[in-house]
Amino acid sequence: MIILKSPDEIALMRQAGQIVAKLLDFLKDRVQSGVKTKTLDQQAEEFIRQQGAQPAFLGYRGFPATICISINEEIVHGIPGERRIQAGDLVSLDVGAIWHGYYADAAITIPVEPVSPAARYLTEITQKSMEEGIAKAIVGNRLTDISHRVQQVIEAAGFGVVRDFVGHGIGKDLHEAPAIPNFGPAGMGPRLKEGMVLAIEPMVTMGSYEVEILSDGWTAVTKDRSLSAHFEHTVAITPNGVTILTQH
Ligand code: MG
Repeated sequence: MIILKSPDEIALMRQAGQIVAKLLDFLKDRVQSGVKTKTLDQQAEEFIRQQGAQPAFLGYRGFPATICISINEEIVHGIPGERRIQAGDLVSLDVGAIWHGYYADAAITIPVEPVSPAARYLTEITQKSMEEGIAKAIVGNRLTDISHRVQQVIEAAGFGVVRDFVGHGIGKDLHEAPAIPNFGPAGMGPRLKEGMVLAIEPMVTMGSYEVEILSDGWTAVTKDRSLSAHFEHTVAITPNGVTILTQH
């Protein structure tokens, strides 16, 4: 069942979203060669708590950190630790916060220069596919209109769309119905309605879309070890169109 949110609930989710947006801005400047991923995670936790919010991922199904940091062939759910970021890395940050019981969830991929033109293009296309998918999140469309558009943008560029992980509804829980695949035919699934809040998050690979989970039980990597990128926004469907809650 898809839980519709009232305007008051969406206002709270926007506040959660603004904390997430500010956190990503804060972290973006700190993703630099030589920085330990564990340090970024500690800074993220402090930042969230200073805002009066709680980390959304810490302890979620046992996840051991505040944010996910996934580098290069890592797609999602990378665990921050002793690894240091290096020039040429593609660093995906996935962050979430809880504000007055409501969740917001967003992700960006940051190229640590100098990266290859192909890696930069992968990042740009992943962001573009998210943006074009979000543009389909309007009243009257069907859910998979989003999925289909995301896939079109990614595959037109020659990249792979991850199947094993998908976007999701979000609200008082981090993951609610509906699941939002980043692939498939348009015109299927539920009709989009006012009050739906969705996390739209394409995960894109430079090669095959097949996924493997590392022995830490969390980190998802491309099976062929090709580079991967990930962007995500939490968005609300309103009578006046889609509004991105995790953006200033
Ligand atoms: Mg998400």
